Amino acid sequence: MTSTPNQKIYLTLLLLALALWACVRVDLSAPPVSAVIVPTPAPPAATVTPWPTPTPIVIQMVAGPIIEPACLLPDVGSGQSITASGSYTETERSASTPMVCHITRDSCAYNQLVGILDPSIVFKEEEEAPYNTEDILMHPAMLGPLTRLNELVKAEWGGEYQLRVTDAYDSLLEHDPPESNPSTRYSLHYDGRAIDVTTWPVNWNLYGRLCALAHCAGFDYVENEVTHCHASINASSLCTQCGQ
Ligand SMILES: [Zn+2]
Repeated sequence: MTSTPNQKIYLTLLLLALALWACVRVDLSAPPVSAVIVPTPAPPAATVTPWPTPTPIVIQMVAGPIIEPACLLPDVGSGQSITASGSYTETERSASTPMVCHITRDSCAYNQLVGILDPSIVFKEEEEAPYNTEDILMHPAMLGPLTRLNELVKAEWGGEYQLRVTDAYDSLLEHDPPESNPSTRYSLHYDGRAIDVTTWPVNWNLYGRLCALAHCAGFDYVENEVTHCHASINASSLCTQCGQ
């Protein structure tokens, strides 16, 4: 069988077309080397954020250059205490220094107490007026640790639980048994350097963690008293400052 001239032309054109098509395919599948060297897109900014990342924990704002990403202290067990040095055996008298006096209402020392009215903190204020406001009164040096603790509570439980203060300064000397002699009663609440906190709503199961957060917030002595977390500070007593 022989091909006619027309058939040869068609065959030639077909082969030419196939060859051109093959060239195009080669060109597409193997681009010039220069086309391969395309700058790699920069990674998203989020992947190059330096560590540690900023957190809402207030420790960063008030503790200077030391940045603590989280409170890594284990839960404080029921009845257990911990001091600023990390000791589980040091006493409150050693860590926060002893009570100096009972601050009486309307005294010089009483007038040095400060009140905190942060709406994100729940204050129990269960005492009869005018003593109900004593839950918001405390030594000025308490404000830093308390503010940090509130921020840690927010970061820990994200609004599910709030920080509640059940007692701070106490002129009624209610931190000793009622049958005890008032003149010998002893508690740092009486000179405004101690505070009792819980979660709100109440959840006793969380107080081991709450006490750990109080330690991380800067309280010098923290004790898990099961029904609440007691915390105090080492600061010059207002009684001393007033010469009492
Ligand atoms: Zn207490």
